[in-house]
Amino acid sequence: MAYKITNKCISCDLCKNVCPSNAIKIIDERPWIDPELCKNCIDSVYSVPQCKAGCPTYDGCVKIKSDYWENWFDIYKNLKSQLTHKNDQTEYWEKWFNTYSQKYSEQLQNS
Ligand code: SF4
Ligand code: SF4
Repeated sequence: MAYKITNKCISCDLCKNVCPSNAIKIIDERPWIDPELCKNCIDSVYSVPQCKAGCPTYDGCVKIKSDYWENWFDIYKNLKSQLTHKNDQTEYWEKWFNTYSQKYSEQLQNS
């Protein structure tokens, strides 16, 4: 699986010049990794993926997960980690539940 650039990227373009496969392109002023060209830096002189290693953000550049649930839990954990206060978490889940239950009841009424 190739690496990909996420919406956490700050477009510093550092990764573009270090990729040994020339897989990183600038499209509409945003970097993008061509999955056909990215070889995860395997068989290069580097021992770690250069785009991730040099990225100044924590998750601006990540490996694409092949497993659906692994990916899902990563997103869930990431979103949850942004909820720093206990009250925020309660409010978040209450809002989520209210929205979900409202949509669900609308669907039941329409069926
Ligand atoms: S993992 Fe390596 S080959 Fe793939 S985009 Fe990043 S620097 Fe390029
Ligand atoms: S190094 Fe990271 S922040 Fe900079 S352009 Fe690449 S992915 Fe984006």
